[in-house]
Amino acid sequence: MSIEIRNIHKRFGDFVALDNVNLTVESGELLALLGPSGCGKTTLLRIIAGLETPDSGQVLFGGEDATHTHVSERQVGFVFQHYALFRHMTVFDNVAFGLSVRPRKVRPSKEEIRDKVMKLLKLVQLDWLADAYPGQLSGGQRQRIALARSLAVEPKVLLLDEPFGALDAKVRKDLRRWLRELHDEIHVTSVFVTHDQEEALEVSDRVVVMDHGRIEQVGAPDDIYEHPASPFVTQFLGDVNLFHGRVDGSHLTIGDYAHPLTATPGEGQAVAYVRPHDLIVSRSADDALASGVVEHIHAVGPLVRLEVATGDGQTLEAVLAKEAFRELAILPGESVFLTPRKVSVFLADGDYSI
Ligand code: ATP
Repeated sequence: MSIEIRNIHKRFGDFVALDNVNLTVESGELLALLGPSGCGKTTLLRIIAGLETPDSGQVLFGGEDATHTHVSERQVGFVFQHYALFRHMTVFDNVAFGLSVRPRKVRPSKEEIRDKVMKLLKLVQLDWLADAYPGQLSGGQRQRIALARSLAVEPKVLLLDEPFGALDAKVRKDLRRWLRELHDEIHVTSVFVTHDQEEALEVSDRVVVMDHGRIEQVGAPDDIYEHPASPFVTQFLGDVNLFHGRVDGSHLTIGDYAHPLTATPGEGQAVAYVRPHDLIVSRSADDALASGVVEHIHAVGPLVRLEVATGDGQTLEAVLAKEAFRELAILPGESVFLTPRKVSVFLADGDYSI
């Protein structure tokens, strides 16, 4: 079931929560809504669910206008950050709940419910916990049960609002991989809200980056990461070093440094972003953009992070593989030269076409 959002506006008093949002979620895809706190992700999810009404605009499910369809008729399943399991019911009864409260005429038989619940519990790999109570489960297990429960009623659309937000980092990581695999198996159209860029990039088919009630960019994770459409997206997706320069036709110049550009975006003052792993660290001044003194070295794990203080008071961050770091044999206090491998450039006048 596809979802189409057309020209959605939503205000709370004077505050504009959603500003002309247009978006299509393809049938069967797993889409992440990503953005900082307060950018409108949850409001958009609630409008898709029918828990919130837009001031104007439309929501279409499978091409049909569902803007005024009641939440109970939309056939959506929800999973929220805080496990909404019934504490006095077993895991089995929690998952069975949506089916067992159906009116008699449309309610499946006890055997059918049993088969279905056990199948779902197997799907989330927790069938051995059917008789346990929520209080006996870990946070991650509760979220998997919450997901099984939302799937029991065969929703046409699955909506997840920071489903792993309350879990610790390790469990979060395991669960997002698990969610990806589960989605590959069941293919229900899913919209997933998160403020965690790593989570969005790892789990989803496409990512929608939002800011201040607007969509900044929509695309496949790799596309968004490699070709961010604006300074906001570039900075939101990970650490960056910022430089000010000038674009003249096919080159970006920053001081004496010139970087060839593949596109010819025009001319003018520009901001350039370089991710720490795109800064090549060297002892040679050839072709360098910047030089500085190594202030800190963080060498835990396979990557080494250097903080380099430049003469003009800026601290640049460079990340390199441990092997390369060993070869360079850099010590704190030594001077190094930095050259960008890849640069994201935006004209300062706001024409982000580069
Ligand atoms: P978070 O990650 O913090 O949940 P979000 O991107 O999901 O953020 P929303 O929950 O959609 O953001 O909220 C967007 C803005 O709208 C926020 O500033 C919030 O305070 C405001 N807002 C949301 N719901 C209401 C409401 N019912 N009444 C008034 N303001 C609201």
